[in-house]
Parts: sequence; C-alpha cells; structure tokens
Amino acid sequence: MYPSLEGKVVVITGGSTGLGKAMAERFGKEKAKVVINYYSEDQMKEVKGIIETIENAGGRATGIQGDVTKEEDIKRMISHAMETFGSMDVMVNNAGIENEVPSEDLTLEDWNKVISTNLTGQFLGCREAIDYMLEHKIKGSVINMSSVHQEIPWPHFVHYAASKGGVKLMTETLALEFAPHGIRVNCIAPGAIDTPINAEKFSDPELKKGVIELIPMGYIGKPEEIAACAVWLASSEASYVTGLTLFADGGMTQYPGFQAGKG
Ligand code: NAD
Repeated sequence: MYPSLEGKVVVITGGSTGLGKAMAERFGKEKAKVVINYYSEDQMKEVKGIIETIENAGGRATGIQGDVTKEEDIKRMISHAMETFGSMDVMVNNAGIENEVPSEDLTLEDWNKVISTNLTGQFLGCREAIDYMLEHKIKGSVINMSSVHQEIPWPHFVHYAASKGGVKLMTETLALEFAPHGIRVNCIAPGAIDTPINAEKFSDPELKKGVIELIPMGYIGKPEEIAACAVWLASSEASYVTGLTLFADGGMTQYPGFQAGKG
C-alpha cells in the first residue's frame, strides 16, 4: 500500500475495461479519488460496478464519457476531476486500440485511427494534465501506457508498434521538459496481459500457447500486475523516477529465444 496516494485525484482514460479497470480499482484501494473515463455509453454499467467496488474499499470515484482523440473531451475529463474532487494529481493515459492488418493492405483510415487513439490521444492527455499541473503548481505524475512493442517489432501491427514507439520518446521528452517543475512522466510497457484486447487471440488455445512460448516466466500477465506498477509510479516511493519505461512483461523483452538450451 502507498499512503501517499490517499486523497490524490487520478484520471484514467479507457478506464472501464482491462488494465484501466484494474488500475482504477487499485487506485481506489489506495484511497485515491478516481476519475474513470469510458469511451461508449454501453460501458456505463461496467463503470458503475467499478465505482461501487472503489467506494466499498473506502475510495471515491466518478465516471465520465469521452473520446481521447478529441481535445475538448480530454479538457472535459480534467474539468470534471476539478469540479468533482477539486484537483488533479495523476494522469494515466491508458486508452488504446489495435487491429491486425498486413502492412501492404493497411488503409490510411486504419493507420490514422490507431495513431490518433494511441499516440495523439496520449499526447493530448499529457499536454492537458501538464498544463493543469503547471498552472496549479502541482508536482504531479503522468503515466502513459506503452507496450513491449515500443521495442519489439510486430508485423501486421505496424501502426500499433509505431504508436507505442512514439509513446516512448514522447514520454522521455516530456520527462526532460518538465522535470524542473517536479512533474514526473513515465510509461509502463506491458507484455501479454489477459484483457479484452487479447480476448479473441487467447480464446484460441494454439494462439495462446504460441504467446506463452514468448514469455520466459511462462504465463500470461494479470491486469493487477500492471496496476501494481501504476500505483508505484504514481506514489512518492517513485519520487525520483522520471522518463522511465517500466517493462512488466514476464521477461518477454529479454530475448526468450535464447533461453537455456536455445540459441
Ligand atoms: P482494453 O481493450 O480492455 O482497453 C482499452 C480501452 O480503451 C477500452 O476501454 C476502450 O473502450 C478504450 N478506448 C478505445 N478507444 C478510445 C478512445 N478513442 N477514447 C477513450 N477510450 C478509448 O485493452 P487493455 O489491454 O486494457 O488496453 C489498455 C492499454 O494497454 C492500451 O493502450 C494497450 O495498447 C495497452 N497494452 C495492453 C497489453 C495487453 O496485453 N493487454 C499489452 C501492452 C499494452
């Protein structure tokens, strides 16, 4: 547990499912005040459940619909945090999408959709959060959700890999730019985690087995294992950490092809 998070206001984009949901619930357990952004109205029911879980754990939470690719929606999320909880201390830019397409068939529309959600959306979240923190002299924390694919090339997912590579250098650049103000900017790079983004792949036993073979620790990660990284990065225990990519991938980036007996 991280006592420094008690009462802190945390905004999480794409917070109704998967990693966003796990992070919202974990920040709630830390007694933070959580603003859960969700994308579509049909996610409302899920959000209500998360709010209930957080409130039962002694935290506070609120939901707000919004599309991270729209400037006005990101601004609304931060205003909502201010109006509901009076401040904003932590921004988690988590919303993201992926789709598999051989690169020679990738349409401009598909490319733009992934880049605008995963990279531009995270930039808007960073910019608005940092602007707010500067104006209110808050030594806040910004956490971006990257992926092992900021480092590992991924055929058929060129738009996704490009977006996460962008998130890496965006994070490092913003960390450098705002370190003098005490604003920390870091990212988390998960490996393969059991969330809706992977539901189709993991429902096929052969595909799932193929993924597990790429993970030296031998299992698909749990969303809670990523949420644990987020609360640490947001807490005062990470007060001297900025510009970091925290890989949480069961060793996936450590060249699993070279495990004992191979390579
Ligand atoms: P997920 O599909 O459950 O979560 C993505 C969330 O983003 C959904 O709630 C979705 O509604 C929301 N979203 C999509 N477009 C949006 C938009 N324009 N505005 C607001 N919200 C939007 O999958 P997840 O695994 O929880 O993914 C969360 C993040 O983690 C993503 O950035 C993803 O790239 C990253 N990630 C996931 C894994 C994994 O294995 N699960 C690995 C590496 C990185």
